[in-house]
Parts: sequence; C-alpha cells; structure tokens
Amino acid sequence: MPPLVLTADFAREFPELAVRAQAEAPPNPRLLILNEPLATQLGLDPQWLKSPEGIGLLTGTAVPDGATPVAQAYAGHQFGNYVPVLGDGRALLLGELTDGQSQFDLSLKGSGRTSFARGGDGLAVVGPMLREYVISEAMYALGIPTTRALAVTATGRDVQRETVLPGAVLARVAASHLRVGSFQLVAQQARATGDLTLLRRLADHAIDRHHPQAAEAENRYIALFAAVVEAQASLVARWMLVGFIHGVMNTDNTTISGETIDYGPCAFMEAYDPATVFSSIDHAGRYAFGNQPLVMQWNLARFAETLLPLFSDDEDKALTVAMEILEGFMPRYHGFWSDGMLAKFGLARSMEAAALIDQALMLLKNNAVDYTSFFRSLTKAAQGGAEGPLADNAFEEWLQRWRAQTPDAETMQRVNPVYIPRNHLVEQALTAAMRDDLAPVQKLLGVLAEPYRERDGLEDYAAPAPPEFGGYRTFCGT
Ligand code: AMP
Ligand code: MG
Repeated sequence: MPPLVLTADFAREFPELAVRAQAEAPPNPRLLILNEPLATQLGLDPQWLKSPEGIGLLTGTAVPDGATPVAQAYAGHQFGNYVPVLGDGRALLLGELTDGQSQFDLSLKGSGRTSFARGGDGLAVVGPMLREYVISEAMYALGIPTTRALAVTATGRDVQRETVLPGAVLARVAASHLRVGSFQLVAQQARATGDLTLLRRLADHAIDRHHPQAAEAENRYIALFAAVVEAQASLVARWMLVGFIHGVMNTDNTTISGETIDYGPCAFMEAYDPATVFSSIDHAGRYAFGNQPLVMQWNLARFAETLLPLFSDDEDKALTVAMEILEGFMPRYHGFWSDGMLAKFGLARSMEAAALIDQALMLLKNNAVDYTSFFRSLTKAAQGGAEGPLADNAFEEWLQRWRAQTPDAETMQRVNPVYIPRNHLVEQALTAAMRDDLAPVQKLLGVLAEPYRERDGLEDYAAPAPPEFGGYRTFCGT
C-alpha cells in the first residue's frame, strides 16, 4: 500500500457537504510532471509516486485504506448570479494529509463526473492542467498564498472540447477547499430550516483549520469574518502588486484560508492598464485587473451574509458589526497595497512618495509600459545602472523627483520579480507539451521558481511578449 496516510476528516465531519465519488479509471495514465520538492515536503516519496501505484493515487484509482474520496458541495455567485448548488463537478477531495505542522487537502481535478457534474463531462485536458501547474507554482515562488500543483497525469483519454484534446488529471494541494460558496450553501439551508447547527459546525471547522486565533475572541464568528477579510485584503494586494488577474473571482473561487484558488482564465498583465481583462467570457470586465479589490469586498459581503445569524441574535446588531468589518476591507487592502508599492519603488512613506506612485502608474498606463519590467528597470536605475526603457522623455521629470528620494535598491531587488509567467512563454511551453515535449515547461518552471534572482541567459524570459502576440484570450474550465 502507499506509504501515506490520508485522513477523511472533512468527509467524516461533514457528510452533509460531501458526496462519495470515484475517479474514472484513465485508459492509459502517463505522469507528465511531478512536483518532487512538494511531494517530499508532504512526506510523499517521489519515486513511489512515479510507480503505477503512485500514479493510481495521482489519478484517484488507488487510494489508501481509510481515505474516502468525496465531491464537495457548495453554492456560489458566478458573475454576480447566485447558483444554489454548484459543487465539485470534476474534482475530488481524496483526503487530508499533514507535513507534520499543517493539514492539507489532496484533491484531483479532471478525475471524472460526480453528482455535481450537471451537463459537464467531469474531465480536464492537458493544456489547462499544465497551465494551472505552471501559474500556481509561479505564484508560490513569488510568495503569494496559493494552492499548489503536485502532478499532472495524462489520462490517455480523448476529451471533446471545440476539438478533441488529450485528457489529464491535476493533483492539487490546498490549505483546504473551504470557500465562501461552502458557507453560502449551508447558510441557505439554515435560513430554510432555522437550524444553525451545521453553519456553526462549518464555521468552527474553518476557525480550527485556518484562523485558530479567532477562537479566543468574545464572538469567534465575528473574529473569523474579520480574519478572512484580513487574509483576503492581503491576498488581493499581493495580486495587484505583481499584476495577477484571477479572471473568475466568483464566490465559489474565494477561499476561507486566503489562498489563491482555481487557475482557469487567470493571466499576468503586461502593459499596465487597470481595465485589462483576458477571460473570453468576462465581457463586462467584472473581473478586470483594477476591479479585483472591489470584487473581493463584494464576495466578502456575501460571506458576511452567511454568518450574520452567528454574529448576534439581534439582526440589526449583527448587520452593524458585519458592515463595520466589511468597511475595514478597503483601508486594510490599501494599507497592504501601499506598503507593497512603496517597497517596489524603494521609497519610505511620505506625501511625496504617494504622489510619485500615483504619477508613475499614470505614466505607465498612458505609455502602455510593461508593468513587471518597469520595476526591474527602475531597480537597475536605483543601483546606478542604465535607465533602459525609462530613458523615455515621459519619465524624465518623474525620475528626477524619484531619485531625490534616494530609493532603496536592495528592497526593490527583493520585491520586484524579474520573471513572471508571461502569457506568450506559457503558451509556447504548452504548445510544445501538446507535442509531447515537456522540456519547455520544465525550463519555464525552473526559471519561475526563483523569480527575484536575475540570471544570465534568461533575458527572453524577462521580456514582454512581442507585439504580434496581441489580444491574448483565456478560457474557463477547459
Ligand atoms: P470553475 O469556474 O472552474 O470554478 O467551475 C465552476 C463549476 O463548474 C464547478 O462546480 C465545477 O465543478 C463545474 N465544472 C467545470 N468544468 C466541468 C466539467 N468539465 N465537468 C463537470 N463540471 C465542471
Ligand atoms: Mg471553482
């Protein structure tokens, strides 16, 4: 049997939210990529994971004794519209494992239909699963809370999309898969029955697992809400600082842990513009780069609504408390963001620094400057190097004022990434992978694993996309 213990805590404690499900056996499984450092960190032997038994675990066909694979039930607002039952249509929670300190969910995506599949086929394809692997690992290396990718296994099954594509299963590790949508489902039941037991149990579980300090508070549920607001304010600020666009910030894709989850249509912005949208279905720009803080606050308002009955028996009082905490989101977000921005510019807090940041962002937008390489050029300029793309007239006066503040090059070097998963590079690597050449994906992963350390010979990985790579579009759930 696998040298691994998987608990079934969620499946056991929340039968109301967990439907037993079985992975579909892949006809011809082939491990495409394995995250060996992550495996080791979780106490999993990479060699074993590469064996037929290990691949059985990574595709859900061979699970250890005691594990109980389940599809999780949840609801959610998708593009603002409430869907009362969503749930894992193509995902499975295999169970929880521990690295000796924290507990993690081990789950699969693309492992076949579950009772939540509705019209879907329950499957996933190689390209998007490798894409999630690359981008989530890049986020991890950037120091941003995220689910992680353990492996992608090709199934050998054809999957019908617009064309026939090769199927794959992603094995994913998360602090948990609790999301705002989990609470929405339970709160909806609580409203219908007047019974708060399950809601309270789910909130206690979330506190235990993610925000244990909330248990010390006078009202632990109010403290839970405040903790999630804090975690998400910090998370979205981190996204904004690196130019990450999630693309599908539905409430079912908003975690209670504060991790980034669900890498579908996400992508990194190149030329700075808050209106940037990549997702092919986001016609109104609801999830545009610059909207992300506001959308997160909206999602947290939906979370607050689920917890109101636990805040106080007095409805008005509950609402007042919720509003107070919710109104704290933007100031908290802005605090995280401005701390991060000051570091990116190498500046200490001052009125002049704030003005410099505002003006720089305006210049970036008006001149369609690449966000990531701008900050690296600026870092070089702070180190006394050439100003490269900054030599532009548009920046001349701004640069003088910025220099007058004696920017701290060391801080800038530490916080401004050289390498992000640029869309054209990701696409190139995935195209090669579709021809069975995984080398470009591996190379890209190696580059992205150390985003802050500039290395000779990797200039192409730091450069923006060539102009002919315009109009990039991304897709959901493919
Ligand atoms: P997402 O936007 O990827 O978070 O997915 C939204 C919902 O659609 C979730 O309930 C998924 O489980 C479900 N879903 C997405 N793709 C499929 C598929 N191919 N088969 C079944 N369910 C799916
Ligand atoms: Mg989702």
